[in-house]
Amino acid sequence: MSDLLQHLRQAVGAEHVLEGDRLEPYSHDATFMEAAPLAAVLPGSTEEVAAVVRACAAAAVPIVARGAGTSLVGGSVPLDRAVVLGLERIRHCEVDAPNTCAVVGAGLITGELQEAAAEHGLMYPPDPASVGMSSIGGNVACNSGGMCCVKYGVTSDYVIGMTVVLADGRVLKLGGKTRKRASGYRLIQLFVGSEGTLGIVTEVTVKLIPLPRHHATAMVGFNSIEEAAAAVSRLLGSGHFPAAIEIIDRSSLDLTRELLPPGFDPELAAVLIVEQDGNDPQQVHQNLLQIVEVLDGVDNRIAQTEAERDGLWRARREFGKVLMAMPSNFFAEDVAVPIASIPEMARRVHQLSLETGVKISIFGHAGDGNLHPTILFTDEQRPLVGKLAARIFRDAIALGGSISAEHGLGALKRDFAEEEHGPLAMGVMRDLKRLFDPQGLLNPHKVFPEQPADDRFLDKQPGWGVKREGAVRDRSELGA
Ligand SMILES: Cc1cc2nc3c(=O)[nH]c(=O)nc-3n(C[C@H](O)[C@H](O)[C@H](O)COP(=O)(O)OP(=O)(O)OC[C@H]3O[C@@H](n4cnc5c(N)ncnc54)[C@H](O)[C@@H]3O)c2cc1C
Repeated sequence: MSDLLQHLRQAVGAEHVLEGDRLEPYSHDATFMEAAPLAAVLPGSTEEVAAVVRACAAAAVPIVARGAGTSLVGGSVPLDRAVVLGLERIRHCEVDAPNTCAVVGAGLITGELQEAAAEHGLMYPPDPASVGMSSIGGNVACNSGGMCCVKYGVTSDYVIGMTVVLADGRVLKLGGKTRKRASGYRLIQLFVGSEGTLGIVTEVTVKLIPLPRHHATAMVGFNSIEEAAAAVSRLLGSGHFPAAIEIIDRSSLDLTRELLPPGFDPELAAVLIVEQDGNDPQQVHQNLLQIVEVLDGVDNRIAQTEAERDGLWRARREFGKVLMAMPSNFFAEDVAVPIASIPEMARRVHQLSLETGVKISIFGHAGDGNLHPTILFTDEQRPLVGKLAARIFRDAIALGGSISAEHGLGALKRDFAEEEHGPLAMGVMRDLKRLFDPQGLLNPHKVFPEQPADDRFLDKQPGWGVKREGAVRDRSELGA
Protein backbone atom coordinates (compact mmCIF):
# COMPACT_ATOMS: atom_id res chain seq x y z
CA MET A 1 0.00 0.00 0.00
CA SER A 2 2.71 2.52 0.95
CA ASP A 3 4.67 1.42 -2.14
CA LEU A 4 1.64 2.10 -4.31
CA LEU A 5 1.12 5.56 -2.78
CA GLN A 6 4.78 6.30 -3.39
CA HIS A 7 4.42 5.31 -7.06
CA LEU A 8 1.26 7.42 -7.38
CA ARG A 9 3.03 10.46 -5.91
CA GLN A 10 5.89 9.95 -8.36
CA ALA A 11 3.38 9.71 -11.21
CA VAL A 12 1.35 12.87 -10.54
CA GLY A 13 3.15 14.83 -7.81
CA ALA A 14 2.46 14.43 -4.08
CA GLU A 15 0.00 17.38 -4.02
CA HIS A 16 -2.28 15.53 -6.44
CA VAL A 17 -2.58 12.36 -4.35
CA LEU A 18 -5.37 12.88 -1.81
CA GLU A 19 -5.76 10.93 1.42
CA GLY A 20 -7.61 11.12 4.73
CA ASP A 21 -10.32 13.82 5.08
CA ARG A 22 -9.73 15.06 1.54
CA LEU A 23 -11.20 11.78 0.22
CA GLU A 24 -14.78 12.51 1.32
CA PRO A 25 -15.93 14.17 -1.95
CA TYR A 26 -14.61 11.15 -3.88
CA SER A 27 -16.50 8.58 -1.83
CA HIS A 28 -19.94 9.16 -3.39
CA ASP A 29 -21.84 10.34 -6.45
CA ALA A 30 -25.35 11.87 -6.75
CA THR A 31 -27.02 8.75 -5.26
CA PHE A 32 -27.19 7.53 -1.67
CA MET A 33 -24.22 5.19 -2.30
CA GLU A 34 -20.95 5.70 -0.52
CA ALA A 35 -17.66 3.77 -0.19
CA ALA A 36 -14.25 4.92 1.02
CA PRO A 37 -11.54 5.00 -1.66
CA LEU A 38 -7.97 3.94 -0.98
CA ALA A 39 -6.75 7.24 -2.39
CA ALA A 40 -7.83 9.81 -4.95
CA VAL A 41 -5.35 10.72 -7.65
CA LEU A 42 -5.69 13.74 -9.91
CA PRO A 43 -3.40 13.35 -12.95
CA GLY A 44 -2.83 16.31 -15.25
CA SER A 45 -2.18 14.55 -18.57
CA THR A 46 -2.73 11.32 -20.49
CA GLU A 47 0.84 10.27 -19.67
CA GLU A 48 0.17 10.74 -15.95
CA VAL A 49 -3.08 8.75 -16.23
CA ALA A 50 -1.11 5.94 -17.90
CA ALA A 51 1.50 6.01 -15.10
CA VAL A 52 -1.27 5.82 -12.45
CA VAL A 53 -2.95 2.92 -14.24
CA ARG A 54 0.37 1.05 -14.55
CA ALA A 55 1.09 1.52 -10.85
CA CYS A 56 -2.38 0.27 -9.83
CA ALA A 57 -2.20 -2.67 -12.28
CA ALA A 58 1.17 -3.72 -10.83
CA ALA A 59 -0.33 -3.63 -7.31
CA ALA A 60 -3.61 -5.27 -8.49
CA VAL A 61 -5.60 -2.36 -7.01
CA PRO A 62 -8.91 -1.39 -8.67
CA ILE A 63 -9.34 2.00 -10.36
CA VAL A 64 -12.53 4.05 -10.65
CA ALA A 65 -12.49 6.87 -13.21
CA ARG A 66 -14.35 9.93 -12.02
CA GLY A 67 -15.45 13.04 -13.88
CA ALA A 68 -17.68 15.24 -11.72
CA GLY A 69 -19.41 12.52 -9.67
CA THR A 70 -22.97 13.30 -10.85
CA SER A 71 -23.76 9.67 -11.69
CA LEU A 72 -27.30 8.63 -10.76
CA VAL A 73 -26.48 4.90 -10.66
CA GLY A 74 -23.56 4.67 -8.24
CA GLY A 75 -21.23 4.56 -11.29
CA SER A 76 -18.41 6.63 -9.79
CA VAL A 77 -18.60 5.17 -6.26
CA PRO A 78 -15.28 3.41 -5.51
CA LEU A 79 -16.30 -0.08 -4.43
CA ASP A 80 -13.56 -2.57 -3.37
CA ARG A 81 -11.25 0.11 -1.81
CA ALA A 82 -10.39 1.38 -5.26
CA VAL A 83 -8.15 4.27 -6.21
CA VAL A 84 -10.31 7.07 -7.62
CA LEU A 85 -8.76 8.51 -10.75
CA GLY A 86 -10.22 12.02 -11.02
CA LEU A 87 -10.02 13.57 -14.49
CA GLU A 88 -10.88 17.09 -13.30
CA ARG A 89 -7.44 18.59 -14.06
CA ILE A 90 -7.53 17.43 -17.69
CA ARG A 91 -9.86 20.08 -19.10
CA HIS A 92 -8.30 21.64 -22.20
CA CYS A 93 -10.68 22.77 -24.95
CA GLU A 94 -9.70 23.59 -28.52
CA VAL A 95 -12.52 24.50 -30.89
CA ASP A 96 -11.41 23.85 -34.48
CA ALA A 97 -14.01 25.86 -36.40
CA PRO A 98 -12.76 25.10 -39.95
CA ASN A 99 -13.03 21.37 -39.15
CA THR A 100 -16.30 21.88 -37.19
CA CYS A 101 -15.05 19.90 -34.23
CA ALA A 102 -13.51 20.37 -30.80
CA VAL A 103 -10.72 18.50 -29.03
CA VAL A 104 -11.35 18.45 -25.30
CA GLY A 105 -9.90 17.00 -22.11
CA ALA A 106 -12.11 14.40 -20.43
CA GLY A 107 -12.50 16.50 -17.27
CA LEU A 108 -13.95 19.54 -19.07
CA ILE A 109 -17.43 20.45 -17.87
CA THR A 110 -19.79 19.91 -20.82
CA GLY A 111 -21.38 23.35 -20.42
CA GLU A 112 -17.93 24.92 -20.92
CA LEU A 113 -17.58 23.05 -24.21
CA GLN A 114 -21.01 24.36 -25.28
CA GLU A 115 -20.00 27.93 -24.41
CA ALA A 116 -16.69 27.64 -26.25
CA ALA A 117 -18.45 26.24 -29.35
CA ALA A 118 -21.10 29.00 -29.24
CA GLU A 119 -18.38 31.67 -29.46
CA HIS A 120 -17.72 30.30 -32.96
CA GLY A 121 -21.43 30.10 -33.88
CA LEU A 122 -21.25 26.33 -33.35
CA MET A 123 -23.11 23.92 -31.10
CA TYR A 124 -22.32 20.74 -29.17
CA PRO A 125 -25.92 19.46 -28.85
CA PRO A 126 -26.00 16.70 -26.17
CA ASP A 127 -27.29 18.58 -23.13
CA PRO A 128 -27.87 16.50 -19.99
CA ALA A 129 -29.74 18.45 -17.32
CA SER A 130 -26.44 18.24 -15.41
CA VAL A 131 -24.65 20.05 -18.26
CA GLY A 132 -23.34 22.74 -15.91
CA MET A 133 -21.56 20.27 -13.67
CA SER A 134 -20.96 16.91 -15.40
CA SER A 135 -17.79 16.26 -17.42
CA ILE A 136 -17.52 15.36 -21.09
CA GLY A 137 -15.59 12.19 -20.09
CA GLY A 138 -18.47 11.18 -17.79
CA ASN A 139 -20.97 11.95 -20.57
CA VAL A 140 -18.99 9.77 -22.99
CA ALA A 141 -18.67 6.96 -20.41
CA CYS A 142 -22.47 7.00 -19.86
CA ASN A 143 -23.53 7.93 -23.42
CA SER A 144 -25.50 10.79 -21.89
CA GLY A 145 -28.59 12.30 -23.44
CA GLY A 146 -30.63 15.37 -22.64
CA MET A 147 -33.40 17.71 -23.65
CA CYS A 148 -32.31 18.35 -27.25
CA CYS A 149 -31.45 14.75 -28.13
CA VAL A 150 -34.82 14.11 -29.78
CA LYS A 151 -33.72 16.26 -32.72
CA TYR A 152 -29.93 16.15 -32.45
CA GLY A 153 -29.00 12.73 -31.04
CA VAL A 154 -26.99 11.64 -27.98
CA THR A 155 -23.30 11.76 -27.03
CA SER A 156 -22.33 8.74 -29.16
CA ASP A 157 -23.55 10.58 -32.28
CA TYR A 158 -20.87 13.25 -31.80
CA VAL A 159 -17.68 11.44 -30.70
CA ILE A 160 -15.30 11.07 -33.67
CA GLY A 161 -11.95 10.74 -31.88
CA MET A 162 -10.73 9.52 -28.54
CA THR A 163 -7.63 8.86 -26.44
CA VAL A 164 -8.06 5.98 -23.99
CA VAL A 165 -5.68 4.55 -21.42
CA LEU A 166 -6.09 0.78 -21.37
CA ALA A 167 -6.08 -1.33 -18.20
CA ASP A 168 -2.35 -2.11 -18.57
CA GLY A 169 -1.41 1.54 -19.12
CA ARG A 170 -1.05 1.48 -22.91
CA VAL A 171 -2.42 4.57 -24.66
CA LEU A 172 -4.90 3.90 -27.49
CA LYS A 173 -5.67 6.69 -29.96
CA LEU A 174 -8.84 6.26 -32.02
CA GLY A 175 -10.37 8.28 -34.86
CA GLY A 176 -9.55 11.98 -35.22
CA LYS A 177 -11.08 15.06 -36.80
CA THR A 178 -12.53 13.26 -39.84
CA ARG A 179 -16.32 13.28 -39.72
CA LYS A 180 -16.76 10.06 -41.74
CA ARG A 181 -14.79 6.86 -41.33
CA ALA A 182 -15.72 3.36 -42.48
CA SER A 183 -12.38 1.62 -42.08
CA GLY A 184 -12.24 -1.03 -39.42
CA TYR A 185 -14.28 -1.75 -36.34
CA ARG A 186 -15.88 1.22 -34.60
CA LEU A 187 -13.85 0.88 -31.42
CA ILE A 188 -14.78 4.40 -30.30
CA GLN A 189 -18.38 3.27 -29.89
CA LEU A 190 -17.25 0.39 -27.69
CA PHE A 191 -15.85 2.82 -25.15
CA VAL A 192 -18.86 5.16 -25.36
CA GLY A 193 -21.28 3.94 -22.69
CA SER A 194 -18.76 1.52 -21.13
CA GLU A 195 -18.94 3.34 -17.76
CA GLY A 196 -15.23 3.23 -17.03
CA THR A 197 -15.09 -0.58 -17.23
CA LEU A 198 -13.00 -0.91 -20.42
CA GLY A 199 -10.54 2.02 -20.29
CA ILE A 200 -9.97 5.56 -19.04
CA VAL A 201 -10.91 8.22 -21.58
CA THR A 202 -8.54 11.18 -21.36
CA GLU A 203 -9.44 13.19 -24.48
CA VAL A 204 -12.28 13.24 -26.99
CA THR A 205 -12.82 14.88 -30.35
CA VAL A 206 -16.46 15.81 -30.91
CA LYS A 207 -18.35 16.99 -33.99
CA LEU A 208 -19.98 20.41 -33.82
CA ILE A 209 -22.92 21.71 -35.85
CA PRO A 210 -24.19 25.23 -36.62
CA LEU A 211 -25.82 26.92 -33.63
CA PRO A 212 -29.47 27.74 -34.40
CA ARG A 213 -30.08 31.48 -33.96
CA HIS A 214 -33.71 31.39 -32.81
CA HIS A 215 -35.77 29.36 -30.34
CA ALA A 216 -39.48 29.34 -29.60
CA THR A 217 -41.01 27.55 -26.61
CA ALA A 218 -44.48 26.47 -25.58
CA MET A 219 -46.01 24.73 -22.58
CA VAL A 220 -49.06 22.61 -23.41
CA GLY A 221 -51.33 21.25 -20.67
CA PHE A 222 -53.32 17.97 -20.61
CA ASN A 223 -55.99 16.35 -18.45
CA SER A 224 -54.06 13.10 -18.03
CA ILE A 225 -50.47 11.86 -18.33
CA GLU A 226 -51.63 9.29 -20.89
CA GLU A 227 -53.09 12.04 -23.12
CA ALA A 228 -49.84 14.01 -22.91
CA ALA A 229 -47.81 10.91 -23.80
CA ALA A 230 -50.16 10.05 -26.68
CA ALA A 231 -49.75 13.59 -28.03
CA VAL A 232 -45.95 13.10 -28.21
CA SER A 233 -46.29 9.97 -30.29
CA ARG A 234 -48.91 11.66 -32.52
CA LEU A 235 -46.62 14.67 -33.05
CA LEU A 236 -43.51 12.69 -33.98
CA GLY A 237 -45.54 10.36 -36.18
CA SER A 238 -46.84 13.37 -38.10
CA GLY A 239 -43.31 14.33 -39.15
CA HIS A 240 -42.60 17.16 -36.68
CA PHE A 241 -39.32 16.87 -34.84
CA PRO A 242 -39.02 19.72 -32.35
CA ALA A 243 -35.67 20.51 -30.70
CA ALA A 244 -37.02 19.36 -27.34
CA ILE A 245 -40.19 17.79 -26.01
CA GLU A 246 -40.27 17.20 -22.27
CA ILE A 247 -43.07 15.68 -20.23
CA ILE A 248 -43.91 16.58 -16.60
CA ASP A 249 -46.73 14.90 -14.66
CA ARG A 250 -48.95 16.28 -11.92
CA SER A 251 -46.93 14.98 -8.99
CA SER A 252 -43.74 16.55 -10.43
CA LEU A 253 -45.65 19.80 -11.07
CA ASP A 254 -46.80 19.76 -7.44
CA LEU A 255 -43.17 19.64 -6.30
CA THR A 256 -42.20 22.62 -8.44
CA ARG A 257 -45.37 24.70 -8.16
CA GLU A 258 -43.60 27.92 -7.14
CA LEU A 259 -41.38 27.66 -10.23
CA LEU A 260 -44.29 27.45 -12.69
CA PRO A 261 -45.34 30.44 -14.84
CA PRO A 262 -47.86 32.92 -13.39
CA GLY A 263 -51.50 31.85 -13.77
CA PHE A 264 -50.60 28.18 -14.27
CA ASP A 265 -53.73 25.99 -13.94
CA PRO A 266 -53.18 23.86 -10.78
CA GLU A 267 -55.67 21.23 -12.02
CA LEU A 268 -53.62 20.18 -15.06
CA ALA A 269 -52.55 16.53 -14.87
CA ALA A 270 -49.50 16.89 -17.11
CA VAL A 271 -47.68 19.32 -19.37
CA LEU A 272 -45.39 19.07 -22.36
CA ILE A 273 -42.68 21.68 -22.83
CA VAL A 274 -41.88 21.88 -26.49
CA GLU A 275 -39.15 23.89 -28.16
CA GLN A 276 -38.51 24.61 -31.82
CA ASP A 277 -35.30 26.13 -33.20
CA GLY A 278 -33.92 27.41 -36.49
CA ASN A 279 -32.53 30.52 -38.18
CA ASP A 280 -35.68 32.23 -39.47
CA PRO A 281 -37.64 33.59 -36.47
CA GLN A 282 -40.98 33.68 -38.29
CA GLN A 283 -40.64 30.15 -39.54
CA VAL A 284 -39.58 28.90 -36.10
CA HIS A 285 -42.63 30.58 -34.54
CA GLN A 286 -44.90 29.24 -37.29
CA ASN A 287 -43.59 25.69 -36.80
CA LEU A 288 -44.18 25.95 -33.09
CA LEU A 289 -47.80 27.00 -33.67
CA GLN A 290 -48.30 23.97 -35.94
CA ILE A 291 -46.77 21.70 -33.29
CA VAL A 292 -49.03 23.11 -30.59
CA GLU A 293 -52.03 22.50 -32.84
CA VAL A 294 -51.08 18.85 -33.41
CA LEU A 295 -50.49 18.35 -29.68
CA ASP A 296 -54.08 19.48 -29.11
CA GLY A 297 -53.83 20.18 -25.37
CA VAL A 298 -56.26 21.98 -23.07
CA ASP A 299 -53.97 24.85 -22.06
CA ASN A 300 -51.41 26.45 -24.39
CA ARG A 301 -48.77 28.98 -23.38
CA ILE A 302 -46.42 30.28 -26.04
CA ALA A 303 -43.52 32.36 -24.77
CA GLN A 304 -43.40 35.83 -26.33
CA THR A 305 -40.12 36.96 -24.77
CA GLU A 306 -36.83 35.41 -23.62
CA ALA A 307 -37.94 35.94 -20.00
CA GLU A 308 -41.16 34.02 -20.68
CA ARG A 309 -39.15 31.23 -22.34
CA ASP A 310 -36.99 30.93 -19.26
CA GLY A 311 -40.16 30.92 -17.15
CA LEU A 312 -41.60 27.97 -19.09
CA TRP A 313 -38.38 25.96 -18.67
CA ARG A 314 -37.70 26.84 -15.00
CA ALA A 315 -39.68 24.03 -13.33
CA ARG A 316 -38.14 21.37 -15.58
CA ARG A 317 -34.59 22.70 -15.29
CA GLU A 318 -34.71 22.98 -11.52
CA PHE A 319 -36.38 19.62 -10.94
CA GLY A 320 -33.15 17.82 -9.91
CA LYS A 321 -32.36 20.52 -7.38
CA VAL A 322 -35.88 20.29 -5.97
CA LEU A 323 -35.59 16.51 -5.64
CA MET A 324 -32.22 16.73 -3.89
CA ALA A 325 -33.55 19.33 -1.45
CA MET A 326 -36.64 17.32 -0.45
CA PRO A 327 -36.78 15.81 3.03
CA SER A 328 -38.00 12.44 1.66
CA ASN A 329 -35.76 10.13 -0.33
CA PHE A 330 -36.03 9.09 -3.98
CA PHE A 331 -34.96 6.43 -6.45
CA ALA A 332 -34.66 7.76 -10.03
CA GLU A 333 -35.47 5.47 -12.94
CA ASP A 334 -34.42 6.14 -16.50
CA VAL A 335 -36.42 3.85 -18.77
CA ALA A 336 -36.88 4.19 -22.52
CA VAL A 337 -39.59 2.64 -24.68
CA PRO A 338 -40.46 2.89 -28.39
CA ILE A 339 -42.28 6.18 -29.05
CA ALA A 340 -45.68 4.57 -29.64
CA SER A 341 -45.43 2.79 -26.26
CA ILE A 342 -44.94 5.98 -24.19
CA PRO A 343 -48.65 6.26 -23.29
CA GLU A 344 -48.73 2.62 -22.12
CA MET A 345 -45.52 3.03 -20.10
CA ALA A 346 -46.85 6.21 -18.48
CA ARG A 347 -50.17 4.48 -17.75
CA ARG A 348 -48.46 1.51 -16.06
CA VAL A 349 -46.28 3.72 -13.84
CA HIS A 350 -49.24 5.92 -12.88
CA GLN A 351 -51.31 2.82 -12.08
CA LEU A 352 -48.48 1.38 -9.96
CA SER A 353 -48.38 4.56 -7.90
CA LEU A 354 -52.17 4.47 -7.40
CA GLU A 355 -52.12 0.76 -6.44
CA THR A 356 -49.32 1.02 -3.87
CA GLY A 357 -49.87 4.54 -2.52
CA VAL A 358 -46.19 5.34 -3.12
CA LYS A 359 -45.66 8.61 -4.97
CA ILE A 360 -43.96 8.15 -8.36
CA SER A 361 -43.22 11.35 -10.26
CA ILE A 362 -42.96 11.07 -14.02
CA PHE A 363 -40.92 13.50 -16.06
CA GLY A 364 -38.43 13.07 -18.87
CA HIS A 365 -37.34 13.42 -22.43
CA ALA A 366 -40.62 12.21 -23.93
CA GLY A 367 -39.51 12.76 -27.52
CA ASP A 368 -36.93 9.99 -27.06
CA GLY A 369 -39.42 7.72 -25.28
CA ASN A 370 -37.28 8.33 -22.18
CA LEU A 371 -39.19 8.66 -18.90
CA HIS A 372 -37.70 9.20 -15.43
CA PRO A 373 -40.29 7.63 -13.10
CA THR A 374 -38.92 8.76 -9.73
CA ILE A 375 -40.06 6.86 -6.65
CA LEU A 376 -40.43 9.29 -3.72
CA PHE A 377 -40.48 7.34 -0.49
CA THR A 378 -40.62 7.71 3.26
CA ASP A 379 -38.60 5.50 5.64
CA GLU A 380 -41.66 3.26 6.18
CA GLN A 381 -42.08 2.81 2.41
CA ARG A 382 -38.42 1.91 1.86
CA PRO A 383 -38.97 -1.91 1.80
CA LEU A 384 -41.39 -1.42 -1.13
CA VAL A 385 -39.02 0.48 -3.40
CA GLY A 386 -37.09 -2.49 -4.79
CA LYS A 387 -40.36 -4.13 -5.82
CA LEU A 388 -41.66 -0.99 -7.54
CA ALA A 389 -38.35 -0.31 -9.27
CA ALA A 390 -38.14 -3.91 -10.53
CA ARG A 391 -41.70 -3.70 -11.87
CA ILE A 392 -40.88 -0.51 -13.80
CA PHE A 393 -37.71 -2.09 -15.25
CA ARG A 394 -39.69 -5.12 -16.36
CA ASP A 395 -42.54 -3.08 -17.84
CA ALA A 396 -40.02 -1.15 -19.94
CA ILE A 397 -38.37 -4.37 -21.14
CA ALA A 398 -41.77 -5.95 -21.89
CA LEU A 399 -42.63 -2.95 -24.07
CA GLY A 400 -39.43 -3.46 -26.07
CA GLY A 401 -37.50 -0.80 -24.19
CA SER A 402 -34.46 -0.33 -21.97
CA ILE A 403 -33.86 -0.03 -18.22
CA SER A 404 -31.46 2.84 -18.86
CA ALA A 405 -31.77 5.42 -21.61
CA GLU A 406 -28.94 7.70 -20.52
CA HIS A 407 -27.75 7.20 -16.92
CA GLY A 408 -26.08 3.80 -17.41
CA LEU A 409 -26.29 0.70 -15.23
CA GLY A 410 -23.60 1.41 -12.64
CA ALA A 411 -24.05 -0.61 -9.45
CA LEU A 412 -27.72 0.20 -8.93
CA LYS A 413 -29.21 -1.24 -12.13
CA ARG A 414 -26.60 -3.83 -13.14
CA ASP A 415 -28.55 -6.83 -11.79
CA PHE A 416 -31.30 -6.34 -14.41
CA ALA A 417 -28.91 -6.06 -17.37
CA GLU A 418 -29.36 -9.69 -18.44
CA GLU A 419 -33.16 -9.41 -18.42
CA GLU A 420 -32.84 -6.67 -21.03
CA HIS A 421 -30.00 -8.05 -23.16
CA GLY A 422 -30.24 -11.81 -22.70
CA PRO A 423 -27.47 -14.27 -21.73
CA LEU A 424 -25.73 -14.37 -25.11
CA ALA A 425 -25.28 -10.59 -25.38
CA MET A 426 -24.13 -10.42 -21.74
CA GLY A 427 -21.69 -13.24 -22.44
CA VAL A 428 -20.19 -11.30 -25.37
CA MET A 429 -19.94 -8.21 -23.13
CA ARG A 430 -18.14 -10.29 -20.46
CA ASP A 431 -15.72 -11.58 -23.13
CA LEU A 432 -14.97 -8.00 -24.17
CA LYS A 433 -14.46 -6.99 -20.54
CA ARG A 434 -11.96 -9.86 -20.09
CA LEU A 435 -10.14 -8.84 -23.28
CA PHE A 436 -9.74 -5.20 -22.25
CA ASP A 437 -9.37 -5.71 -18.49
CA PRO A 438 -8.14 -9.26 -17.75
CA GLN A 439 -7.44 -8.46 -14.07
CA GLY A 440 -10.93 -6.96 -13.61
CA LEU A 441 -9.52 -3.77 -12.09
CA LEU A 442 -11.51 -1.10 -13.96
CA ASN A 443 -14.60 0.03 -12.03
CA PRO A 444 -15.45 -3.31 -10.38
CA HIS A 445 -19.05 -4.28 -9.46
CA LYS A 446 -20.56 -2.09 -12.18
CA VAL A 447 -22.57 -2.96 -15.31
CA PHE A 448 -22.51 -6.79 -14.91
CA PRO A 449 -25.16 -8.58 -12.77
CA GLU A 450 -23.87 -9.92 -9.42
CA GLN A 451 -26.95 -10.92 -7.45
CA PRO A 452 -30.50 -12.07 -8.27
CA ALA A 453 -32.62 -9.50 -10.10
CA ASP A 454 -35.37 -9.53 -7.50
CA ASP A 455 -37.24 -7.13 -5.22
CA ARG A 456 -34.27 -7.03 -2.82
CA PHE A 457 -31.69 -5.89 -5.37
CA LEU A 458 -31.18 -2.56 -3.61
CA ASP A 459 -30.75 -3.99 -0.12
CA LYS A 460 -27.09 -4.92 -0.50
CA GLN A 461 -25.92 -1.54 -1.78
CA PRO A 462 -23.92 0.46 0.77
CA GLY A 463 -26.05 3.24 2.29
CA TRP A 464 -29.27 2.11 0.53
CA GLY A 465 -32.14 4.51 1.13
CA VAL A 466 -30.36 6.78 3.59
CA LYS A 467 -30.87 10.40 2.65
CA ARG A 468 -27.55 12.15 2.90
CA GLU A 469 -26.60 15.78 2.46
CA GLY A 470 -23.85 16.59 -0.01
CA ALA A 471 -24.45 13.75 -2.48
CA VAL A 472 -22.83 15.91 -5.13
CA ARG A 473 -20.12 18.37 -4.35
CA ASP A 474 -22.19 21.51 -4.83
CA ARG A 475 -25.90 20.88 -4.87
CA SER A 476 -26.69 24.53 -5.41
CA GLU A 477 -25.25 24.16 -8.90
CA LEU A 478 -27.55 21.31 -9.88
CA GLY A 479 -29.85 22.05 -12.75
CA ALA A 480 -32.44 19.57 -13.91
C1 LIG B 1 -29.46 16.79 -11.34
C2 LIG B 1 -28.94 15.80 -12.32
C3 LIG B 1 -29.48 15.79 -13.60
C4 LIG B 1 -29.03 14.86 -14.54
N1 LIG B 1 -29.56 14.89 -15.79
C5 LIG B 1 -29.11 14.04 -16.73
C6 LIG B 1 -29.62 14.09 -18.06
O1 LIG B 1 -30.50 14.89 -18.40
N2 LIG B 1 -29.13 13.21 -18.95
C7 LIG B 1 -28.15 12.31 -18.63
O2 LIG B 1 -27.73 11.57 -19.50
N3 LIG B 1 -27.66 12.23 -17.37
C8 LIG B 1 -28.09 13.08 -16.42
N4 LIG B 1 -27.59 13.01 -15.14
C9 LIG B 1 -26.62 11.96 -14.79
C10 LIG B 1 -25.12 12.37 -14.89
O3 LIG B 1 -24.96 13.77 -14.85
C11 LIG B 1 -24.53 11.80 -16.17
O4 LIG B 1 -24.49 10.39 -16.08
C12 LIG B 1 -23.11 12.32 -16.47
O5 LIG B 1 -22.70 11.86 -17.73
C13 LIG B 1 -22.07 11.91 -15.45
O6 LIG B 1 -20.92 12.70 -15.69
P1 LIG B 1 -19.84 12.91 -14.55
O7 LIG B 1 -18.72 13.69 -15.12
O8 LIG B 1 -20.46 13.45 -13.33
O9 LIG B 1 -19.38 11.41 -14.35
P2 LIG B 1 -19.14 10.57 -13.01
O10 LIG B 1 -20.34 10.56 -12.16
O11 LIG B 1 -17.88 11.03 -12.39
O12 LIG B 1 -18.92 9.12 -13.65
C14 LIG B 1 -19.99 8.45 -14.27
C15 LIG B 1 -19.46 7.14 -14.85
O13 LIG B 1 -18.54 7.41 -15.91
C16 LIG B 1 -17.25 6.87 -15.62
N5 LIG B 1 -16.28 7.87 -16.07
C17 LIG B 1 -16.26 9.18 -15.76
N6 LIG B 1 -15.27 9.79 -16.42
C18 LIG B 1 -14.66 8.84 -17.16
C19 LIG B 1 -13.55 8.84 -18.06
N7 LIG B 1 -12.88 9.97 -18.34
N8 LIG B 1 -13.18 7.68 -18.63
C20 LIG B 1 -13.85 6.52 -18.37
N9 LIG B 1 -14.90 6.46 -17.53
C21 LIG B 1 -15.29 7.61 -16.94
C22 LIG B 1 -17.25 6.63 -14.13
O14 LIG B 1 -16.35 5.60 -13.76
C23 LIG B 1 -18.70 6.28 -13.87
O15 LIG B 1 -18.92 4.93 -14.19
C24 LIG B 1 -28.02 13.92 -14.18
C25 LIG B 1 -27.48 13.95 -12.90
C26 LIG B 1 -27.93 14.87 -11.96
C27 LIG B 1 -27.32 14.86 -10.60
